[in-house]
Amino acid sequence: MPSDVSGDLVATHVLEFPGGYTRTTGPVIGRFLTELRDRRLVGVRTAGGRVLVPPLEYDPDTGEPVTEEYVEVGPAGTVEAWAWVGSPRPGHPLDRPFAWALIELDGADTALVHAVDAGSPKALRPGLRVRPRWRGVTTGHITDIECFVPEVTSLVAPVRAEYRVTPGRALTRFLKGVRDGRFVGGRCTDCAAVYVPYRESCPACGSVIEEEVEVADTGTVTTFAINNLPDPRAPEVPFVSAYVLLDGADTPVIALIGGVPAREVRQGMRVRAVWVPPEERTLSMTNVKWFEPTGEPDADLDDSTGGA
Ligand SMILES: [Zn+2]
Repeated sequence: MPSDVSGDLVATHVLEFPGGYTRTTGPVIGRFLTELRDRRLVGVRTAGGRVLVPPLEYDPDTGEPVTEEYVEVGPAGTVEAWAWVGSPRPGHPLDRPFAWALIELDGADTALVHAVDAGSPKALRPGLRVRPRWRGVTTGHITDIECFVPEVTSLVAPVRAEYRVTPGRALTRFLKGVRDGRFVGGRCTDCAAVYVPYRESCPACGSVIEEEVEVADTGTVTTFAINNLPDPRAPEVPFVSAYVLLDGADTPVIALIGGVPAREVRQGMRVRAVWVPPEERTLSMTNVKWFEPTGEPDADLDDSTGGA
């Protein structure tokens, strides 16, 4: 057991982790390892109906033999507890700092121990969603999974990249508005659709857009993603990036959501932009710190989309 692993719960399981698999390859563990080779994770069902992962031959609660029913679980799961390893040593699964974590795979009733490559201890929290990173060649060993990695769905990064390029005329109009604490859109002369950011032609009907309109800095969350990798400009992980349909606009903007736990963010949630102080503003979307809930009742998305 590595001495730099803190946390009794995790350390105990780590002790069991390499030894148990190599010493006893009975039929139950054998099945588990065979499935691993094929990149599937299975547990075994107990007489009481629980799913043990990794599978054991006897139900640890009752001592009864388990059933012969194998259940595919995961591959994603949830971190329950962890111990950070700041100085990995030879024999450790990763050569950079990582966490030993208790991971309950989806569909399992018990947790297994494996490494989580999270980059920083700050990225870890109970409930963190992770999925396995498989080795290129699998041999039927627990190390067929190199480690688990946080599930990441980031909608934010590509858009930031967009705003770092030299903005064209239309985007400049939009960014000047944002510097002044306003969202500037353009209304299509022919179909009346309002686009935010402002753009010069209508993607729906091809018409030139000449009319500038200001839309509200309040809106409705249409879709969102939970991010588990820390970002210096975002709220603490897990944080939410979302499409926000600003009131008066027909197309959503991508934004961070703050001031509310990630798990409480939902489609239809009403939000308002939180602007950075005027003296800190630049020609960029970072003038909007994030959007936070207004406290209004949720909007009916069917009503708020497609309307004007
Ligand atoms: Zn149009």
